[in-house]
Amino acid sequence: MSRVAFIGLGRMGHGMAGRYLENGFKVSVWNRSRAKADDLIARGARWATSPEDAAIDADAVVTMVADDEASRAVWLGKDGAVATMKSGTLAIECSTVSYDHSRELSRELHARGLIFIDCPVTGLPDAAAGGKLTLLVGANAADLERARPYLAPIGSTIRHFGEVGAGTVYKLINNLMGAIQIAGIAEGLAIAERAGLDMKLVLEAVESGVAASPAVIRHSRRMVARDFDGATFTASLRHKDAAYAVRLAESLLAATPLTGRAAVEAYARAKSVAPDDDEARMIEVVSQAK
Ligand code: NAP
Repeated sequence: MSRVAFIGLGRMGHGMAGRYLENGFKVSVWNRSRAKADDLIARGARWATSPEDAAIDADAVVTMVADDEASRAVWLGKDGAVATMKSGTLAIECSTVSYDHSRELSRELHARGLIFIDCPVTGLPDAAAGGKLTLLVGANAADLERARPYLAPIGSTIRHFGEVGAGTVYKLINNLMGAIQIAGIAEGLAIAERAGLDMKLVLEAVESGVAASPAVIRHSRRMVARDFDGATFTASLRHKDAAYAVRLAESLLAATPLTGRAAVEAYARAKSVAPDDDEARMIEVVSQAK
């Protein structure tokens, strides 16, 4: 039976770890706060006392944590997973991290004889729990072939963008474009509200107009209704992704990425008000009356 160590049991990681259990893998789990592991343990996962403990005897270690800092801690920090990973073990980083971090982590793990692939994802927590994520992979082709049995339980689509780091490049541009769009929806709707338009009519027009996209359709109704229950993607995570993307843009493009910078600023404001609330709360930040 294949053994997977799964580290990071937040909104996304919890469902992903459950997919390995449902697919017959032997699973060890670790999360910074233990309570999130309780039902996975009841379903057969082994609770590990540290990432290092989780990785003992694992064929693959999969991580899904918040950011670069968390990723560095669980792989390379005190009690980090690398301490017990045997040469040739697969290291699959699913968290959205910065491009530089992804490349640096790859070098560190490769030097220890481990196989690293970056595998950030798109899809919401329900897709994570249902094994329906889209996996954005950066890996050498042979490493991806080895990783496929460990990717199948969590993803329904694999997009292989190139060598290590390439999956992260795509994920960051995807989320930067999303950040710009969602901040834009909030501003447009806030203007319409303050100008006294019939918001039912505005929503109908937005959803059927040329600016509509799945993100616009998903967020605009919630923004107008101020319905932020059940946060799926937080302001804090969106700010992190936009900031990582702008840093990447600055290393590649001669012109300053103006809209990207504006999105980072907008999400810095949203994060300072409600870091753990749904990103759609952006409308409250931009809709204050003059
Ligand atoms: P989340 O619910 O906030 O979970 C974050 C996870 O990271 C938790 O397990 C948390 O542990 C852990 N963590 C944070 N800081 C840590 C540290 N310093 N050391 C160790 N662990 C730490 O976030 P999420 O929505 O699951 O997102 C996880 C990753 O997936 C992020 O990179 C995010 O950008 C990406 N993502 C999210 C979505 C989405 O729709 N939510 C979609 C695609 C990709 P605790 O439980 O102890 O806090």
